[in-house]
Amino acid sequence: MQLDTVIHDGAIITAGECFRGDVGIADGRIVMVAERIPGGGRRIDAGGRLVMPGGIETHAHIEQENASGILSADDYLSGSVSAAFGGNSCFIPFAVQHRGEAIGAVLAKYERRALRSVIDYSWHLTVSEATERIVTEDLPRAFARGIASLKVFTTYDQMNIGDGGMLDILTVAKAHGAVTMVHAENADMVKWMNRRLAAAGLTAPRYQAISRPELAEEEAIHRVIALAKLVNASLFIVHVSTAGGATLVQREKLGGARIFAETCPQYLSLTRQNLDLPGEEGAKYICSPPLRDAATQAALWRHVQARTFDCISSDHAPSRFDETGKFANGRDVPFSRIAGGLPGIAFRLPYLFSEGVARGRITPQQFVALSATNAARIFRLKAKGSIAPGMDADIAIWNPEVARRVTLADQHDNMDYTPYEGMELTGRPEIVMTRGEIIVAADRLVAREGQGRPIARSIMDLAGRPGHLAKELDPNQNFGAAIAP
Ligand SMILES: [Zn+2]
Repeated sequence: MQLDTVIHDGAIITAGECFRGDVGIADGRIVMVAERIPGGGRRIDAGGRLVMPGGIETHAHIEQENASGILSADDYLSGSVSAAFGGNSCFIPFAVQHRGEAIGAVLAKYERRALRSVIDYSWHLTVSEATERIVTEDLPRAFARGIASLKVFTTYDQMNIGDGGMLDILTVAKAHGAVTMVHAENADMVKWMNRRLAAAGLTAPRYQAISRPELAEEEAIHRVIALAKLVNASLFIVHVSTAGGATLVQREKLGGARIFAETCPQYLSLTRQNLDLPGEEGAKYICSPPLRDAATQAALWRHVQARTFDCISSDHAPSRFDETGKFANGRDVPFSRIAGGLPGIAFRLPYLFSEGVARGRITPQQFVALSATNAARIFRLKAKGSIAPGMDADIAIWNPEVARRVTLADQHDNMDYTPYEGMELTGRPEIVMTRGEIIVAADRLVAREGQGRPIARSIMDLAGRPGHLAKELDPNQNFGAAIAP
């Protein structure tokens, strides 16, 4: 067989194994993994390097309007380039349906936007309302097109789907083998805190962290898990930021519910003290859920080690430190009027590698699971997330030793700051490939605009996963047969 590329003598890491050898690539796919592979049109010496699946970023806001109409600072070119420099070969940003918008039109809009991407992509469809038409017609149509995941919110007036709406969404997603993601915070607790703080004149950025209590997340996580268990549906809880929330996830996973979860580098590396900067500087650290404290950080790291989390995602939500982003509602406004969100798509994997693998908290195999393999399994990217014959040649070759400080320029995004400026990290991706083509090499972009492709995803295979069956909806008990989802 004629091989286009052979990656030679690297430490090949998958979610389960680590072994020294060669990877043979032809026509964009991995066709051979062996101790030694001769030949190849191009040979890449990976001696002393780690050969890992390219990262899959599953939480990113790219060229996306939020509910108040502010567009994220990165488009599909800058966002995908930044992702590539951070070791990613593929991402799944959100395609967001705001109230009144037709889902077909939303997907068509994001299809146009994504044409500039340098890495492969799909979308999670964010749904802001559970109308009859959306639930019975639009969503089944979207699932059939390979959109295998949805996202809903329990908070924000323009997005909050309500518990009943969420049950309808979970039920249709389950029927089609899709997974529902949820942003879980108790909307009324947050509003009540906001009113108290405003009445007391406490509106500087630092109070944003106080305004969204840990209990608001814990309560909502508990509730959404109960909703998912009632209809025995798969649920992915995004950006878990509290020890209490993580403990609930851990307990329900052990109990057999189909619960998945992620946390993000900002909750592992920053605290609410970052919001204490003078003047408007604290606005750079406003995100929801908010940054917590050092004890929460330590607890979240323990949950990373204990495999409570399936993914570490960036929640890249780039709002520039100017009138196009953070200050779209003006300067000197209360924290509630400052745009939320932190950038971090290029930072995610170098951070996880440095603080996780280099510091001995997780194994390289766990790094691969958290950065790519679990995402591919949960979100149904069948040919991605591992290094094995038949898989797409989405590969990142990492130098595990090199140390460097984080700078804004290194992020290659369209931002005017990085919250992580100056942080010292060990290990970085040197070569990143998408389907066998090098897109980043030695700090240089070699990708062609638009070379990324849309990936149609398959539905979730639930065989062998009993999940949780509510007695009242069990078709074999009581009256369940008439109403079972
Ligand atoms: Zn987000």
